[in-house]
Parts: sequence; structure tokens; C-alpha cells
Amino acid sequence: MEALTATLILKAKRQKPVLNRHPWVFSGAIARIEGEPESGDLVLVAAADKTPLAIATYSPHSQIRARILSWEVDQPIDGSFWRQRIEQAVAARERLQLQPETNAWRLIFGEADLLPGLVVDQYDHWLVMQCLTAGIDRRKELLAEILASVCDARGVVERSDAKVRKKEGLPRVKGVLWGEAPPEQLQIKENGLTFAVELLFGHKTGFYLDQRDNRALVTQPKNVADKDVLNCFAYTGAFAAYAGRNGARQILNVDSSYEALELAEQNVTINCGERPLDTYLAGDAFDVLRHLRDEGRQFDMVILDPPKFANSQRDIDRACRGYKDLNWLGMRLLRPGGLLATFSCSGLISTDLFQKVLFGAAVDAGRDMQIIHPLHQGADHPILLTFPESAYLKGFLLRNLS
Ligand code: SAH
Repeated sequence: MEALTATLILKAKRQKPVLNRHPWVFSGAIARIEGEPESGDLVLVAAADKTPLAIATYSPHSQIRARILSWEVDQPIDGSFWRQRIEQAVAARERLQLQPETNAWRLIFGEADLLPGLVVDQYDHWLVMQCLTAGIDRRKELLAEILASVCDARGVVERSDAKVRKKEGLPRVKGVLWGEAPPEQLQIKENGLTFAVELLFGHKTGFYLDQRDNRALVTQPKNVADKDVLNCFAYTGAFAAYAGRNGARQILNVDSSYEALELAEQNVTINCGERPLDTYLAGDAFDVLRHLRDEGRQFDMVILDPPKFANSQRDIDRACRGYKDLNWLGMRLLRPGGLLATFSCSGLISTDLFQKVLFGAAVDAGRDMQIIHPLHQGADHPILLTFPESAYLKGFLLRNLS
């Protein structure tokens, strides 16, 4: 069992979030540190009056100086602790009963699964692990081994090349942590459709699993059959494959990544056969949308699923301007009665704020738009009530009444 190497004593005025079970301890909330903890060490978090509150891992290079692992201060943090947390997350995914139509899902969603810094996606028999904190990074071999045994996996791949690692002072890493390397291209199933994913080379962890339910809902046959669809930020064509499968007449896919579009075309073909009317356009979505508007093009459905626009509080205004611009353009490209499926995966942009931005876009576009469905991340990306930051993906399916 590992010993706690230090105690972080909180400032009285800043201890409220921790008392409310928020798992992050910011550097500014710490009055003093008793002991000399090293990166990734286990530490005790205590209130200003020294009452022990929680056990956390220490990250000396990050503004989030500690992440709370347990609210039981006597809890031994050992192999059986990690195994129990992992088993709990895995059991919760089993209860979602996604099999057999789906064999890829988020297995562990960091803080929301009480495992701060650990994100794991399952793709059939392979696991892709992201180690986002010093505490997780130091224990990754042990965690990979437990994960492999709980899930009976063939291999565990590390894709810890996210920007957040920089804030933790950790290098980017990519490689096989345990067992076999996955094939360069793996085929997974989602809602009965087949997708080729590249676990070691794709963006993020290969496939945007958080959109599974939204893809099915947005592209129902009643919404897309015989319709013209603009799929913006297409990545590897997941929305397009669903739309094609459900009878879309013609799909225009736009993405800045040429490689992503190549895989998109492959994925659409696997699921729908040849679709000669579809197009794949590599370019900046803002430019392409403006160009389509200038040409007078119109669509029955526009899908806007951009990458994260806001990485910090400072970015919020700029991000809102980006979302407004994008959605303004999207609305202008809709036929009367057309549908706009629009998303924001910026955790810092709340659903309310996103709705306000869409309101502004609709006013400027001179369109009356109805919300038909609010959209969210799937249930394999659960939201912990004490950690509202885990609610990051929001969207709306809107209908153009004008
Ligand atoms: N809708 C996709 C996921 C989109 S991820 C799915 O369901 O799988 C965001 C995508 O936006 C990435 O593929 C990235 O290459 C692309 N992208 C980023 N900036 C862009 C820009 N300015 N214009 C067009 N595409 C962009």
C-alpha cells in the first residue's frame, strides 16, 4: 500500500468546492503543504482546521494541483482499490446493453467514473487509454493490466497525446501498453453500422463515441430519406454513413482533414455501397459554407459538429463568435422546413449559453427556428452531479420554419 507523502491544507475561503465533493483542488485554494510531495504522489487533502477530507494525487505542474480519488480518508489506494473502481465503471457500461449492435464505447470517463485523469475507450477487443494526470501516468502499467484482465482485452493502447498532458508537464505518448497491437485499421460496430477506425493514428482516440445516440436520432429516415444533407466537420463520416443508410439523396461532407475524408468515404461505402452523388470536400468549413451560400446552395439538413472552440475561460467570447458565425451560415443554407443539427463540445460553453448563441444566429439570419430535440453525450459518458464539467457535449436539432 502506498503512503500519503504530504497534506494539502486548504484555505478556509476556498474549501467549499471540496466540501461539496468537487474532485479538483486548485493551487490557489491551498494555504500550505505539509511535506514534500512529488509528482503523482498520494496526498491527504485537509480543511483549514486540519480535518482530513480526502485522498488525492498530486500534480505539481498543473493549476489543478490535486485530483481527489477517494472521500474515505482511511481508504488504502492499492491494486484492489483501482480494480474495484474499474469494475464499477465496466459494470455500468454492461448495464447499458449496447451489444451486439454496438461494440465500441467509453469505458471510463475520468472524474465522472471517480477515476480522475483516466479515460478509456473500448473498441471491440482493444482498449485505448488516455492518462491525463501525473497520478494516472505513474500507475499506467498497473491500470492497463487491471483493465485488460477485467475486460478480457487483447491489447491496451495508450493515446495520451492530448494537449492537457502539457499542463501536467507530461510528454505526449502513443504506443502499446499491454498485450497485442491492434491492426492498423480495425472495424467496429455502432448501432449495427460498421466503421473502420485507426486507433494509433486517428484523431483523439479514433472515433467520436459520444455522438452515437445523436447520430441515430438526427438521421432517422423521416429526417433524411430523399433529402440533401450537408455534413460539416465530417471526420470519418459517421453521420454520413447513418444518413446514407437511412436514404439520404445526396451528402456533401466537409472537413479540413483530407485523411479523415478518405476514411469517411470508405466508411460510407462499407455501409451504403457506392453513392455517386455524394461529395467529399477538404477545406475550412467557414470558407466552404460561405462559398456554398454565395452559390445559392440549399440543403434539407445541415450538421455542424465542430471541434472544441474554447479551451479556457479566455476563449469563451471568441468561441461564441465562432459558433454564431457557423450557425448563422448553417441556417442560411437551410431550405424552408429544413433541419439543423448543431453541436458544441466545449465544456466551458453551457447549454444555456449555446442556446443564446443560436438565438443570436437565428435573429441575424432572419430565420424562425424551433428546437425539436436537445442533444447530449451518450450514457457511456455519464455526468457526475458534483462535477458539472463532465457535461461537455450539447446540441440541438432545430427546424427552420421560415
Ligand atoms: N462529426 C464527426 C466528428 C467531428 S470532430 C463524427 O461524428 O465523427 C471535428 C472535425 O473537425 C475533425 O475531423 C477535424 O478535422 C475537423 N475540423 C477542425 N477544424 C476544421 C475547420 N476549420 N474546417 C473544417 N473541418 C475542421
